[in-house]
Amino acid sequence: MLASATPSVIFVDDDRQLLDSLRDRLLRMRTGWDMHFHDNARDAMAELKNTGSKGAILVTDWMMPGTDGLTLCKRFTTASHDKQSDIPHYYVILMTGRQGIENIEEALDSGADDFIAKPFDTRELVARIRVGIRTCHLENDLQAANMHLAKQAITDPLTGLLNRRRALEILGTELDRSMRGTQSMAVAMADIDHFKNVNDTLGHEAGDRVLKVIAQRLQAVARRYDAVVRWGGEEFLLICPHAGQDEIRSIAERMRASISASPIETQSGNDPLSITISIGTAVVAPGVKVAADAIVASADRALYAAKHAGRNSVQCAKLGYH
Ligand SMILES: [Mg+2]
Repeated sequence: MLASATPSVIFVDDDRQLLDSLRDRLLRMRTGWDMHFHDNARDAMAELKNTGSKGAILVTDWMMPGTDGLTLCKRFTTASHDKQSDIPHYYVILMTGRQGIENIEEALDSGADDFIAKPFDTRELVARIRVGIRTCHLENDLQAANMHLAKQAITDPLTGLLNRRRALEILGTELDRSMRGTQSMAVAMADIDHFKNVNDTLGHEAGDRVLKVIAQRLQAVARRYDAVVRWGGEEFLLICPHAGQDEIRSIAERMRASISASPIETQSGNDPLSITISIGTAVVAPGVKVAADAIVASADRALYAAKHAGRNSVQCAKLGYH
Protein backbone atom coordinates (compact mmCIF):
# COMPACT_ATOMS: atom_id res chain seq x y z
CA MET A 1 0.00 0.00 0.00
CA LEU A 2 1.40 3.35 -0.99
CA ALA A 3 1.07 6.09 1.59
CA SER A 4 -0.11 9.52 0.59
CA ALA A 5 -0.37 12.74 2.56
CA THR A 6 -3.76 14.07 3.60
CA PRO A 7 -4.89 16.85 1.28
CA SER A 8 -5.50 20.41 2.51
CA VAL A 9 -9.05 21.69 2.73
CA ILE A 10 -9.51 25.16 1.30
CA PHE A 11 -12.72 27.16 1.88
CA VAL A 12 -13.60 30.17 -0.27
CA ASP A 13 -16.57 32.47 0.29
CA ASP A 14 -16.97 36.23 0.01
CA ASP A 15 -19.38 36.04 2.97
CA ARG A 16 -16.95 36.62 5.86
CA GLN A 17 -19.58 35.91 8.48
CA LEU A 18 -20.34 32.49 7.00
CA LEU A 19 -16.63 31.75 6.72
CA ASP A 20 -16.02 32.65 10.39
CA SER A 21 -18.88 30.60 11.73
CA LEU A 22 -17.92 27.65 9.51
CA ARG A 23 -14.38 27.84 10.88
CA ASP A 24 -15.67 27.87 14.47
CA ARG A 25 -17.93 24.89 13.92
CA LEU A 26 -15.24 22.88 12.12
CA LEU A 27 -12.64 23.61 14.80
CA ARG A 28 -15.07 22.44 17.45
CA MET A 29 -15.59 19.21 15.50
CA ARG A 30 -11.81 18.57 15.65
CA THR A 31 -11.57 17.19 12.13
CA GLY A 32 -7.76 17.36 12.27
CA TRP A 33 -7.67 18.71 8.71
CA ASP A 34 -5.19 21.24 7.42
CA MET A 35 -7.75 24.00 6.74
CA HIS A 36 -7.44 27.36 5.00
CA PHE A 37 -10.10 30.08 4.68
CA HIS A 38 -10.19 32.78 1.99
CA ASP A 39 -12.76 35.40 1.05
CA ASN A 40 -11.76 35.60 -2.63
CA ALA A 41 -10.80 33.29 -5.49
CA ARG A 42 -7.41 34.89 -6.13
CA ASP A 43 -6.05 34.06 -2.66
CA ALA A 44 -7.52 30.56 -2.86
CA MET A 45 -5.78 30.02 -6.20
CA ALA A 46 -2.43 31.00 -4.66
CA GLU A 47 -3.12 28.63 -1.76
CA LEU A 48 -3.92 25.77 -4.15
CA LYS A 49 -0.62 26.19 -5.94
CA ASN A 50 1.16 25.79 -2.60
CA THR A 51 -0.49 22.53 -1.63
CA GLY A 52 2.14 20.47 -3.46
CA SER A 53 1.67 16.85 -4.38
CA LYS A 54 -0.80 16.03 -1.62
CA GLY A 55 -3.68 17.72 -3.46
CA ALA A 56 -6.56 19.69 -2.01
CA ILE A 57 -10.25 19.76 -1.38
CA LEU A 58 -11.66 23.05 -2.57
CA VAL A 59 -14.96 24.08 -0.98
CA THR A 60 -16.02 27.18 -2.84
CA ASP A 61 -18.94 29.54 -2.96
CA TRP A 62 -20.42 30.04 -6.43
CA MET A 63 -21.37 33.72 -6.48
CA MET A 64 -18.42 35.93 -5.58
CA PRO A 65 -17.19 39.30 -6.85
CA GLY A 66 -14.24 38.99 -9.25
CA THR A 67 -13.57 35.35 -10.13
CA ASP A 68 -16.61 33.28 -9.21
CA GLY A 69 -16.61 29.72 -7.88
CA LEU A 70 -17.46 28.11 -11.20
CA THR A 71 -14.52 29.79 -12.96
CA LEU A 72 -12.18 28.83 -10.13
CA CYS A 73 -13.38 25.26 -10.38
CA LYS A 74 -12.89 25.14 -14.18
CA ARG A 75 -9.34 26.48 -13.94
CA PHE A 76 -8.20 23.90 -11.49
CA THR A 77 -9.95 20.89 -12.86
CA THR A 78 -8.56 21.67 -16.33
CA ALA A 79 -5.03 22.03 -14.93
CA SER A 80 -5.16 18.95 -12.72
CA HIS A 81 -6.58 16.73 -15.49
CA ASP A 82 -3.77 17.72 -17.81
CA LYS A 83 -1.43 14.68 -17.83
CA GLN A 84 1.66 16.90 -18.25
CA SER A 85 0.72 19.13 -15.34
CA ASP A 86 2.43 18.91 -11.96
CA ILE A 87 -0.71 20.22 -10.29
CA PRO A 88 -1.97 17.45 -8.04
CA HIS A 89 -5.49 16.25 -7.61
CA TYR A 90 -8.28 18.53 -6.54
CA TYR A 91 -11.73 17.73 -5.43
CA VAL A 92 -14.15 20.60 -5.72
CA ILE A 93 -17.35 21.05 -3.74
CA LEU A 94 -19.45 23.97 -4.92
CA MET A 95 -21.73 25.59 -2.35
CA THR A 96 -24.48 27.97 -3.27
CA GLY A 97 -27.85 29.34 -2.33
CA ARG A 98 -28.97 28.97 -5.95
CA GLN A 99 -31.79 26.53 -6.13
CA GLY A 100 -32.89 24.20 -8.88
CA ILE A 101 -31.72 21.12 -10.69
CA GLU A 102 -30.30 23.19 -13.58
CA ASN A 103 -27.83 24.81 -11.16
CA ILE A 104 -26.65 21.45 -9.86
CA GLU A 105 -26.30 20.32 -13.48
CA GLU A 106 -24.29 23.38 -14.45
CA ALA A 107 -21.98 23.05 -11.44
CA LEU A 108 -21.23 19.38 -12.00
CA ASP A 109 -20.86 19.83 -15.77
CA SER A 110 -18.30 22.58 -15.09
CA GLY A 111 -16.03 20.11 -13.35
CA ALA A 112 -17.23 20.35 -9.74
CA ASP A 113 -17.16 16.94 -8.05
CA ASP A 114 -19.96 17.70 -5.62
CA PHE A 115 -22.55 20.31 -4.80
CA ILE A 116 -24.07 21.46 -1.53
CA ALA A 117 -27.02 23.88 -1.21
CA LYS A 118 -26.93 26.71 1.31
CA PRO A 119 -27.96 26.70 4.07
CA PHE A 120 -26.47 23.34 4.98
CA ASP A 121 -25.82 21.34 8.09
CA THR A 122 -22.07 21.35 8.87
CA ARG A 123 -22.18 17.60 9.46
CA GLU A 124 -23.32 17.08 5.86
CA LEU A 125 -20.48 19.25 4.55
CA VAL A 126 -17.97 17.35 6.68
CA ALA A 127 -19.24 14.02 5.36
CA ARG A 128 -18.93 15.29 1.77
CA ILE A 129 -15.41 16.58 2.43
CA ARG A 130 -14.48 13.12 3.73
CA VAL A 131 -15.57 11.64 0.40
CA GLY A 132 -13.30 14.19 -1.29
CA ILE A 133 -10.34 13.23 0.88
CA ARG A 134 -10.95 9.57 0.10
CA THR A 135 -11.03 10.34 -3.63
CA CYS A 136 -7.82 12.38 -3.44
CA HIS A 137 -6.08 9.53 -1.65
CA LEU A 138 -7.16 7.06 -4.30
CA GLU A 139 -5.99 9.31 -7.12
CA ASN A 140 -2.65 10.02 -5.46
CA ASP A 141 -2.06 6.31 -4.83
CA LEU A 142 -2.98 5.52 -8.41
CA GLN A 143 -0.57 8.14 -9.70
CA ALA A 144 2.23 6.85 -7.47
CA ALA A 145 1.57 3.29 -8.63
CA ASN A 146 1.66 4.40 -12.26
CA MET A 147 4.94 6.20 -11.76
CA HIS A 148 6.37 3.13 -10.08
CA LEU A 149 5.26 0.94 -12.99
CA ALA A 150 6.65 3.39 -15.52
CA LYS A 151 10.04 3.28 -13.78
CA GLN A 152 9.93 -0.51 -13.55
CA ALA A 153 9.21 -0.77 -17.27
CA ILE A 154 12.52 0.89 -18.16
CA THR A 155 14.76 -0.49 -15.39
CA ASP A 156 16.77 -3.68 -15.07
CA PRO A 157 15.71 -5.07 -11.68
CA LEU A 158 19.07 -6.59 -10.72
CA THR A 159 21.40 -3.67 -11.43
CA GLY A 160 19.00 -0.72 -11.45
CA LEU A 161 20.44 0.32 -14.83
CA LEU A 162 18.24 1.17 -17.79
CA ASN A 163 16.97 -1.86 -19.69
CA ARG A 164 17.17 -2.67 -23.38
CA ARG A 165 13.68 -1.34 -24.09
CA ARG A 166 14.60 2.13 -22.79
CA ALA A 167 18.01 1.94 -24.50
CA LEU A 168 16.36 1.47 -27.89
CA GLU A 169 14.23 4.57 -27.31
CA ILE A 170 17.27 6.64 -26.30
CA LEU A 171 19.29 5.30 -29.24
CA GLY A 172 16.51 6.28 -31.63
CA THR A 173 16.37 9.81 -30.23
CA GLU A 174 20.15 10.31 -30.16
CA LEU A 175 20.74 8.88 -33.63
CA ASP A 176 18.04 11.18 -34.94
CA ARG A 177 19.57 14.18 -33.20
CA SER A 178 23.01 13.34 -34.55
CA MET A 179 21.64 12.89 -38.10
CA ARG A 180 20.00 16.32 -38.03
CA GLY A 181 22.79 18.09 -36.20
CA THR A 182 26.52 18.64 -36.32
CA GLN A 183 27.52 16.32 -33.47
CA SER A 184 28.58 12.72 -33.69
CA MET A 185 27.37 10.12 -31.22
CA ALA A 186 28.76 6.84 -30.02
CA VAL A 187 28.04 3.65 -28.12
CA ALA A 188 30.22 1.22 -26.21
CA MET A 189 29.20 -2.41 -25.84
CA ALA A 190 30.93 -4.16 -22.94
CA ASP A 191 30.92 -7.87 -22.18
CA ILE A 192 32.34 -9.56 -19.09
CA ASP A 193 35.21 -11.91 -19.97
CA HIS A 194 34.65 -15.56 -19.04
CA PHE A 195 31.55 -14.71 -17.03
CA LYS A 196 30.22 -18.22 -17.45
CA ASN A 197 33.06 -19.45 -15.22
CA VAL A 198 31.84 -17.23 -12.36
CA ASN A 199 28.34 -18.69 -12.49
CA ASP A 200 29.58 -22.24 -13.02
CA THR A 201 32.13 -22.28 -10.23
CA LEU A 202 30.71 -19.86 -7.63
CA GLY A 203 27.01 -19.94 -8.39
CA HIS A 204 24.49 -17.41 -9.62
CA GLU A 205 24.51 -15.37 -6.42
CA ALA A 206 28.20 -14.55 -6.95
CA GLY A 207 27.43 -13.90 -10.62
CA ASP A 208 24.70 -11.42 -9.67
CA ARG A 209 27.06 -9.70 -7.26
CA VAL A 210 29.63 -9.29 -10.04
CA LEU A 211 26.97 -7.85 -12.36
CA LYS A 212 25.90 -5.32 -9.72
CA VAL A 213 29.44 -4.15 -8.97
CA ILE A 214 30.23 -3.81 -12.66
CA ALA A 215 27.03 -1.81 -13.15
CA GLN A 216 28.10 0.57 -10.36
CA ARG A 217 31.60 1.00 -11.74
CA LEU A 218 30.37 1.67 -15.26
CA GLN A 219 27.88 4.18 -13.93
CA ALA A 220 30.71 5.91 -12.06
CA VAL A 221 32.86 6.38 -15.18
CA ALA A 222 30.01 7.43 -17.47
CA ARG A 223 29.48 11.11 -18.10
CA ARG A 224 26.40 12.68 -16.53
CA TYR A 225 24.42 12.61 -19.79
CA ASP A 226 25.45 9.12 -20.91
CA ALA A 227 22.91 6.29 -20.59
CA VAL A 228 24.20 3.14 -18.90
CA VAL A 229 22.24 0.06 -19.90
CA ARG A 230 22.11 -3.60 -18.96
CA TRP A 231 21.78 -4.82 -22.51
CA GLY A 232 21.25 -8.44 -21.52
CA GLY A 233 23.05 -11.26 -19.65
CA GLU A 234 26.58 -10.04 -19.03
CA GLU A 235 26.43 -7.28 -21.66
CA PHE A 236 26.33 -3.58 -20.90
CA LEU A 237 25.78 -0.73 -23.32
CA LEU A 238 26.85 2.85 -22.85
CA ILE A 239 25.09 5.42 -25.05
CA CYS A 240 27.20 8.56 -25.36
CA PRO A 241 25.60 11.57 -27.03
CA HIS A 242 27.98 14.09 -28.65
CA ALA A 243 30.95 11.73 -28.32
CA GLY A 244 33.49 11.61 -31.16
CA GLN A 245 36.11 8.98 -32.04
CA ASP A 246 38.69 10.09 -29.44
CA GLU A 247 36.14 10.61 -26.73
CA ILE A 248 34.45 7.21 -27.02
CA ARG A 249 37.84 5.52 -27.07
CA SER A 250 38.86 7.23 -23.84
CA ILE A 251 35.46 6.54 -22.21
CA ALA A 252 35.76 2.85 -23.17
CA GLU A 253 39.32 2.75 -21.87
CA ARG A 254 38.13 4.20 -18.55
CA MET A 255 35.37 1.57 -18.43
CA ARG A 256 37.83 -1.23 -19.06
CA ALA A 257 40.30 0.06 -16.46
CA SER A 258 37.59 0.61 -13.82
CA ILE A 259 36.78 -3.12 -13.90
CA SER A 260 40.29 -4.60 -14.12
CA ALA A 261 41.76 -2.15 -11.56
CA SER A 262 40.44 -3.92 -8.46
CA PRO A 263 39.06 -7.42 -7.84
CA ILE A 264 35.41 -7.90 -6.92
CA GLU A 265 34.31 -9.21 -3.53
CA THR A 266 31.60 -11.82 -4.03
CA GLN A 267 31.06 -13.46 -0.67
CA SER A 268 32.96 -13.72 2.59
CA GLY A 269 35.36 -16.64 2.72
CA ASN A 270 36.10 -16.47 -1.00
CA ASP A 271 38.98 -14.59 -2.53
CA PRO A 272 37.92 -11.49 -4.46
CA LEU A 273 37.56 -12.18 -8.18
CA SER A 274 39.72 -10.55 -10.81
CA ILE A 275 37.28 -9.66 -13.53
CA THR A 276 37.87 -8.01 -16.89
CA ILE A 277 35.62 -6.75 -19.66
CA SER A 278 36.03 -6.44 -23.40
CA ILE A 279 34.55 -3.47 -25.19
CA GLY A 280 33.58 -2.64 -28.75
CA THR A 281 32.64 0.93 -29.61
CA ALA A 282 30.91 2.43 -32.61
CA VAL A 283 30.79 6.12 -33.48
CA VAL A 284 28.44 7.68 -36.03
CA ALA A 285 29.49 10.74 -38.02
CA PRO A 286 27.14 13.73 -37.76
CA GLY A 287 24.53 14.05 -40.50
CA VAL A 288 24.60 10.33 -41.29
CA LYS A 289 21.47 8.20 -41.07
CA VAL A 290 22.11 5.03 -39.07
CA ALA A 291 19.54 2.70 -37.53
CA ALA A 292 19.73 1.68 -33.88
CA ASP A 293 20.32 -1.98 -34.71
CA ALA A 294 23.10 -1.00 -37.14
CA ILE A 295 25.13 0.94 -34.57
CA VAL A 296 24.64 -1.87 -32.05
CA ALA A 297 25.71 -4.47 -34.63
CA SER A 298 28.78 -2.41 -35.44
CA ALA A 299 29.74 -2.17 -31.74
CA ASP A 300 29.11 -5.92 -31.43
CA ARG A 301 31.57 -6.65 -34.24
CA ALA A 302 34.18 -4.45 -32.57
CA LEU A 303 33.50 -6.29 -29.29
CA TYR A 304 34.05 -9.59 -31.06
CA ALA A 305 37.37 -8.26 -32.33
CA ALA A 306 38.31 -7.18 -28.79
CA LYS A 307 37.61 -10.72 -27.55
CA HIS A 308 39.79 -12.12 -30.34
CA ALA A 309 42.54 -9.66 -29.51
CA GLY A 310 42.90 -11.39 -26.13
CA ARG A 311 40.09 -9.80 -24.04
CA ASN A 312 40.38 -7.00 -21.44
CA SER A 313 40.72 -4.69 -24.43
CA VAL A 314 38.92 -2.06 -26.51
CA GLN A 315 38.24 -2.07 -30.26
CA CYS A 316 36.62 0.81 -32.08
CA ALA A 317 34.45 0.98 -35.18
CA LYS A 318 33.11 3.98 -37.06
CA LEU A 319 30.12 4.60 -39.29
CA GLY A 320 29.75 7.26 -41.95
CA TYR A 321 33.31 8.56 -41.80
CA HIS A 322 35.36 8.78 -44.99
MG1 LIG B 1 -21.20 34.62 -2.35
